[in-house]
This record gives sequence, structure tokens and C-alpha cells, in this order.
Amino acid sequence: MARRRLRPPADVEVTRPDKPLWPEIGVTKRDYVDYLAAVADLAVPWLRDRPLTLVRAPDGVGGKRYFQKAISDYAPPWIRRVTIEAPSAGRDVDYVVCDDAATLAWLGNQAALELHPAPVRADRLDRPDLFVVDIDPPDDAFEAAAEVARLVLEVLEELGLESGVKTTGGKGLHIVVPIERRLDDDALRAAAAGLTSMVAARRPDLVTNEFRKAKRAGRVMLDPSRNGGGATIVAPYSPRARPDGTVSFPILPAELGSVRPGDFTLHTVPGMLDSEGPRRWRGLLEARARLPRALLDAGP
Ligand code: ATP
Ligand code: MN
Repeated sequence: MARRRLRPPADVEVTRPDKPLWPEIGVTKRDYVDYLAAVADLAVPWLRDRPLTLVRAPDGVGGKRYFQKAISDYAPPWIRRVTIEAPSAGRDVDYVVCDDAATLAWLGNQAALELHPAPVRADRLDRPDLFVVDIDPPDDAFEAAAEVARLVLEVLEELGLESGVKTTGGKGLHIVVPIERRLDDDALRAAAAGLTSMVAARRPDLVTNEFRKAKRAGRVMLDPSRNGGGATIVAPYSPRARPDGTVSFPILPAELGSVRPGDFTLHTVPGMLDSEGPRRWRGLLEARARLPRALLDAGP
């Protein structure tokens, strides 16, 4: 039986507001909760209805940090949860679901420094609604990731698929394609392998399907396992638990040659929310496409 959720409070208390979370750039817990309030309108649509994995760092980025999937048992009753069966772990896991700014503030107060939603929504956990391309540059060269992203975007456009590109806040880029909920995890991973094959056919010097690192020879492998119900990707507007406070930020394809991951931080992003990247991502979730057969069949 569905439990009725309590309404979120109008105001979420910030405990120990002066605690430094990103000490090198002077960001306290109060500052972080304020940041989350500033991005809530744009960030919540990409979190809503999705099981959420957190990177917690209770003492800030200098302290220990860990991925957290199971919701803390002290979470207040108004925080939404979704239960996912985990037969391998021998028990079910209750995940946080962030549907509103209040939950976002509560997560900030918990020092959840990174937000990693699943590419599935709670009412249909076995049918992903996001197709994800994770571009990790070889040798940490962002320019190489940008070049691969341009190729991926070219192929997606030729297939008639709408997509968004964002920095990860780390070293590379993510490309996200909203899709109809028709394919299971295996089919989606086949599509990801197919996309890699199509891109690699154009630039075999840049991209490979090769899983073995030693055989990649400086080329980029687009990991199909980033897709499916058990995967996550860092949310747009989520910061990273790194000393420089970089943020995963939506950009335009045309900006790939000019931006750097370090352009987008907890300090700069609140002033950039009216720019073209965020505007494009605002409507992106509604552009649900059907992946073409050509993509599903293109794999190795
Ligand atoms: P970068 O651009 O530096 O690669 P990234 O966020 O893409 O940053 P990856 O290591 O490529 O980092 O991982 C891709 C995604 O997979 C992450 O955004 C994260 O959601 C998820 N992920 C990676 N490592 C873990 C982990 N140990 N536990 C849970 N999820 C993880
Ligand atoms: Mn990556």
C-alpha cells in the first residue's frame, strides 16, 4: 500500500552552518545550502523520481568520503524513499528520492557533496529513461574529451536524437539522451556499444570499444556499463567533492572548444544559470526519443 508522504517543511534547519565543506575555496555548509537553493529550480527536474546515490563527506572535502546508497535511518519521515531489491546483498535498499528544494537543502545539511541519480524513475526501475555516454579523456586531456564529444554529438544528430552535453566537474564530459522507457538494461548497453562502434568507425585513432586499458593506446573507450538501472551519473549542477569545488554544468556543443571544467564552480555557477547550456537542458527531459534500430544493431 502506498504510504502518503508528509509535506516537506518550509524551512530546513542548517546545523553547524560555519563548518567548512570546501575549505580551500571558503565554502561553508551554509554557503553550500544556499548554492543548492540557487540551483534548485534547474537541478530538481533531473533528480525527481530517481533513486539517488550520495557522496557524503561529513568533514568536508579534506576528510573521509564515501558513496551512500541506503538512506540514513535518522532521515525525517518527509524525505521520500524508493525501495530497490538487492538480491545479491541479501536485502532491499531504501534510496532517497529528491523531489523538491527542501530535500535538496536537507541533503546539503547532511554534507552530501555529490548527487548521483540513477537513469531510471521509481515507477519503472527496469526501463531506463536516459541513455548516457561517459567520456573519460585519456591522460586527463579535456581537449581530447571535447573532440570525442563533438563526434558523438554528430552521430546522435544524424540519428535524429536530441541530447545534452555537460562537464562532469571532473576530467571529462557526459552526454545524455532522454529516451522512451522501452529498452531494458541489456538493450541499452548494446545501444551504447553500437554508438561507440559508429563513432570509432569515423575516428579509429580516437575512440575504441576496447575494454582492456593496455590495448586502448591513448584512445577513449565509451563505457557501456554507465547505462542501466544499477548505474548512476553525477547530476547536472551537482558539485564534486574536490578541493576546487567544480560543478557538473550543462554546456552547448558550440562551447566545447572554449570551456574548461574549472570554469564551473560553486562560486561561478550561480551567476551562469541564465546561460544557453542550462536553457537547453531545461526542455531536454521532454524530448524523449526512441533509439533507432540502426544503433541497437551497430555493436561489435
Ligand atoms: P570524470 O569526468 O572525471 O570521469 P565522472 O563523474 O564521469 O567524472 P566516472 O569515474 O567516469 O566519473 O564515473 C561515471 C559515473 O559513474 C559517475 O558520475 C558516478 O555517478 C558513477 N560512479 C563512478 N564511480 C562510482 C562508485 N565508486 N560508486 C558509485 N558510482 C560511481
Ligand atoms: Mn567519466
